Amino acid sequence: MKFSKMFIPTTKEAPKDASLASHQYLIRGGFINQTGSGIYNYLPLGKIVLDKIRAIVKEEMDNAGANEVQFGFVTPLSFWEQSGRASTMGNELLKFTDRKNTAYVLSPTNEETAVDLVKNRITSYKNLPLNLYQIYTKFRDEARPRFGLMRGREFLMKDAYSFHASKEDLVREFNLMEETYKRVFNRLGLDYRIVEADSGAIGGSGSKEFMVLADSGEDTIVVCPSCEYGANIEAATRSAKVQDKKETLNLEKVHTPNLKTIDEVSSFLNIDSYYTIKAVIKKAQFEDKNELIVYFIRGCDTLEETKATSAVGALELFDASEADIKESGLHAGFCGIKDLPANIRVLVDNELKNDNNIVCGANEEDYHFINVDLTSMDLEFADLNAVQEGDSCISCNSSLVYTKGIEVGHIFQLGNKYSTAMDAKFLDENGKSQAFEMGCYGIGVSRLIAAVVEQNHDEKGSIWTKETAPFMVDIIVSNAKKENEITAGLEIYETLKKAGIEVIIDDRVKERFGFKMGDFELIGFPYAIVVGKKLQDGLVEIIDRKTLEKTEVKLENILESISSLINN
Ligand code: ATP
Ligand code: MG
Repeated sequence: MKFSKMFIPTTKEAPKDASLASHQYLIRGGFINQTGSGIYNYLPLGKIVLDKIRAIVKEEMDNAGANEVQFGFVTPLSFWEQSGRASTMGNELLKFTDRKNTAYVLSPTNEETAVDLVKNRITSYKNLPLNLYQIYTKFRDEARPRFGLMRGREFLMKDAYSFHASKEDLVREFNLMEETYKRVFNRLGLDYRIVEADSGAIGGSGSKEFMVLADSGEDTIVVCPSCEYGANIEAATRSAKVQDKKETLNLEKVHTPNLKTIDEVSSFLNIDSYYTIKAVIKKAQFEDKNELIVYFIRGCDTLEETKATSAVGALELFDASEADIKESGLHAGFCGIKDLPANIRVLVDNELKNDNNIVCGANEEDYHFINVDLTSMDLEFADLNAVQEGDSCISCNSSLVYTKGIEVGHIFQLGNKYSTAMDAKFLDENGKSQAFEMGCYGIGVSRLIAAVVEQNHDEKGSIWTKETAPFMVDIIVSNAKKENEITAGLEIYETLKKAGIEVIIDDRVKERFGFKMGDFELIGFPYAIVVGKKLQDGLVEIIDRKTLEKTEVKLENILESISSLINN
């Protein structure tokens, strides 16, 4: 490919909201451009990278025995009504009606489509298992589209759906997909970690996420430095900080004027905040109503919102307003677990199950209780706390640490949630009708472009890995007006092309050498070959984009030298 013929509009300026390196460099390098919130075009270079990643994903999925299909991007809303997700998916689901007033959605994921396809077409265990996948556009009306390709509204996903006659077979496929994903991310040259995850709106039981490690990642992951344990903070657990059993003391109400925070109350009473519990008051949005919920966790802990949301089966949680709190008869700052107004749903963190002699609000302005005994109360418990750095690992007791990750893949064991809801059944070995066991498996193909850049860049631009580079070598003809330079450049170009090396030649006549170098560094081709003044001595220069090291090479040795670098 010739630079002069290719549309590569590089720029000095990055969009104002581009805080991430990947966002800045992909725009500045002429890979993508934004047309609307969270909606991007792929320019020629971006399309090449996207197709390379897509090809790796396809190859590994095909090797694993999955079948590639392509579902319609637009799905009838009726499918989503059958599964029940028309109302539980929330605002990310973009619905619309056509001229005949039939309702549709832009597919944010395709479990329903896959079930509808297999239903009544696979009727016997003899035709199972089956894994169908596609690499296709998704649309999610994200609340905060940002970071370029990282969190778009329209994006490219590889989504796969598997169907099984038994749970055991589902687990086998789940493990196979885990191995397949490892091969994909290893080939892409990414540093990643597999972690336990929350299943979110997709539902089902076990799920694992693939996290590319990067400080810019939106996800907090909890990892153990001593063992294999790793989990998204949304699903992380710790070795419980349970209390030693003590004799229960007498309940007392103490005057705590204006002492509303855990710190104020614990220092006033001269106790560790561990012996207090705090109320976190939330407004939960359900399909058909909003409800105030009071979560109780230890004073020294933090509420994990995803856990809190799943624990009550809500769509979303919001902070309760002062007015909501007052209206429910609660007292902000003095809300406690005992003598709460009736009809308020209460959830208590699992780790408080055996606690007595605890301090909490007295549900009365300026008063707290001491010596509250939770063991004598009838309470609903759930895992609600956010694991903190320094907490003990559930498997080996070492101190846990936080790291940041970019979620690039998510695999789920769905079970029969969708097949049951949509009445998709097969006949088992005994002639009995059963709902399919299902798994689903996603990879953020377009997000991977951004993830590769997050892990591979410097202050000048991107540095593509060998599997993702739009071209492996950029031949920079220093002054393309000079006959000998352009001739030598084109000769090298033909030689490399014949050898199967992906190469672009910067043959632009009107651009100066410095500008071409700047483009090479910004775009991030792994190697450049500079054809310039040294040509009169029979020499060209190879530049390694990663180290920016320059090596002089004899013209006649160029293929050998560049090949050995590439194959290294
Ligand atoms: P997130 O927590 O980042 O919103 P998710 O849990 O909603 O992700 P899944 O439903 O599991 O994501 O989708 C599968 C994969 O699709 C994700 O692992 C991610 O790589 C990618 N993905 C999800 N949402 C987006 C988005 N808005 N933009 C780009 N890629 C996305
Ligand atoms: Mg999401």
